[in-house]
Amino acid sequence: MIDSQKIRADFPILNQTVNGKPLVYFDNAATSQKPQVVIDAEANYYKEINANIHRGVHTLSQLATDAYEASRYKIQQHINAKFSHEVLFTSGTTHGINLVANGFGSFLKPGDEVMVSALEHHSNIVPWQMLCEKTGAKLVVIPMNENGELILSEFERLLSEKTKMVTVNHISNALGTINPIQWMIEKAHEVGAAVLIDGAQAVPHLKPDVQDLDCDFYVFSGHKICGPTGTGILYGKEAWLNKLPPYQGGGEMIATVSFEKTTYAELPHKFEAGTPNIAGGIVLGTAIDYLNEIGFDNIAAYEHELLEYGTKKLLEIEGLKIYGTASQKTSVISFNLDGIHPYDVGTIIDKLGIAVRTGHHCAQPIMDFYQIPGTLRASFAFYNTKEEIDALVEAVKKAQMMLS
Ligand code: PMP
Repeated sequence: MIDSQKIRADFPILNQTVNGKPLVYFDNAATSQKPQVVIDAEANYYKEINANIHRGVHTLSQLATDAYEASRYKIQQHINAKFSHEVLFTSGTTHGINLVANGFGSFLKPGDEVMVSALEHHSNIVPWQMLCEKTGAKLVVIPMNENGELILSEFERLLSEKTKMVTVNHISNALGTINPIQWMIEKAHEVGAAVLIDGAQAVPHLKPDVQDLDCDFYVFSGHKICGPTGTGILYGKEAWLNKLPPYQGGGEMIATVSFEKTTYAELPHKFEAGTPNIAGGIVLGTAIDYLNEIGFDNIAAYEHELLEYGTKKLLEIEGLKIYGTASQKTSVISFNLDGIHPYDVGTIIDKLGIAVRTGHHCAQPIMDFYQIPGTLRASFAFYNTKEEIDALVEAVKKAQMMLS
């Protein structure tokens, strides 16, 4: 069970007024807020053990290295990767996808196909488009339906021996749809394609088991799970990471360097050139501990309650339409008021202290599908409450009155 009042006390930022009104933070799909333990862990790192890692024999360097590697191990356990060297630190989901897309060119020839879905965030479209332009491979798109679900019969029909990579999000950021990725991974593997899962919107709500899913790559960002910005994880199966060429060259990622030839370091260092975000990597582990203490079952159950409550309350507003009505979805409600631009509504409700996202949510193809400029997106986290949803509903009604 979630005791939201107790949990809210962990998040200092929530206890403030914005534009003279109590802050209602419903932009969690963009980034989550940080609990005090995470803020303290970041400060303590710099107060107590700040040093560069992996290369020093001095005590602080060893302490920082141990803390960084302990965090990697913690994340390995969290996602149930087989080895800790399959867990690479990145600066976020975008970095992880680009790392794979960049190296994947080595395995593509003209006429091969890379399959993305209609529900993707731009960061899981553009790197693959760039790769296709470079290699002559073709970008194939799994279409969606009116409910915001992927059309799975089309996915099956589009798969062939030409498909070399299927890259799809676990959960859509714009609509909250949960995709049936386990089944999709199985189908993609039947034709010999590799699969990358963009887990950016999944990890705040559930604990992925990468071995059970059997995905080849799974990426996510730390800042959406109560961790610091500029942190992220790329999980890759050992065999794939060994095959994939390095993304960036530099210190840390080498075994030997001479002007004639450089040999690369073992995993995970082969993909971690330069001084990483050491504090961020360590504190990401703290954030994961914090979430596990609350428990993902509790988080999912509570957020589902918020989703049902919010959906029901918002739909009571005449002229309000919700986009994304999949039977499996997380606590994201994307909506518009009939005849009113989402930006105008967002601006008015901000004056009432309510933070929602307005726009295309970096998923323009979804907006094109619905033929709309964008939506208002309220995304709930485990520290939100039904009272806050009531405040949102009242604010939206007020905006509707002012704008129509
Ligand atoms: N994919 C999805 C589904 C996302 O929601 C986001 C963040 N909005 C990203 C990728 C990109 O994440 P980041 O900006 O942290 O790299």
